[in-house]
Amino acid sequence: MPTVLVSAEGHLLDPAVPIVHADDLGLVHGDGLFETLLIRGGRVCGVDRHLARMVASAAVAGLPPIDVASLGRMVDVAARGWLSVAGDMEREGMLRVIVTQGREHDVHAGPTMFATVDPVPDRVAVARRDGVRAVTLPTAYEPGLAQRAPWLLRGVKSLSYAANMAALRQARSLGVDDAIFVSAAGTVLEGPRSSVVAVLGGTLVTPRRDDGVLPGTTQDALFELAASEGITVAERELTAEELVRADEVWLVSSVTLAARVIELDGRPFPGGSVIDVSALVRRSAGA
Ligand code: PLP
Repeated sequence: MPTVLVSAEGHLLDPAVPIVHADDLGLVHGDGLFETLLIRGGRVCGVDRHLARMVASAAVAGLPPIDVASLGRMVDVAARGWLSVAGDMEREGMLRVIVTQGREHDVHAGPTMFATVDPVPDRVAVARRDGVRAVTLPTAYEPGLAQRAPWLLRGVKSLSYAANMAALRQARSLGVDDAIFVSAAGTVLEGPRSSVVAVLGGTLVTPRRDDGVLPGTTQDALFELAASEGITVAERELTAEELVRADEVWLVSSVTLAARVIELDGRPFPGGSVIDVSALVRRSAGA
């Protein structure tokens, strides 16, 4: 069970008491949305970016408009709940906000909403410190498909994450830590739970968002800060061959922040770029 559980009304609930019905469409069909936020140093990182993405995701996924004020209240209550049980401001929490299409047999009930907080998983400290070994994994996605087939929910943080979880299991079965999805056209997309940022000749490069990758809040904040400090940033098509030749490759996300890819498809990356991506990500996340 989660450590902290917050209702849609912003009440702290007993995490041991189930709150989701067996006919919830989030459970039955994976029909819903989620956001995962980091609680660090006593505050929640990137709240506005996460809530804005959830609003945009709801529009694409056909959920009723998201009530941002309620979500904001849930996030505040969840963070306070975490700080009171964690007992230490420095203990990092992983805050999830979940919104589903609601119940199959009670159409008037409206969306199901709740928030949970758990300790940040142990793998996160290891990935931040030691980096990750990754493999590229193929997908059937091709550039432009997200626009032609919006029902595929590319770029939406939907609850249908089974394929992403299966990709991580596939990576682990190959003896590595993480994966990077590649499109049918050989372009880099994203990790199962991270955005890809490559350092190429002093420029930070990330795949185009309109190629159907999730618009990462961490990557967005990183690029905003980097650009403001005079570092060149580019959101463009990035081929798998370019990735192999990059100075460094990073997987960035809200909870892990930044993990350097130390090996890709069995080839080690030496690292040592002039840009300290990890420090930039921490600063841009306010962490
Ligand atoms: N891409 C995918 C598929 C993800 O699941 C995530 C985060 O979980 C990201 C990118 C990174 O997004 P963010 O930086 O907002 O956590």
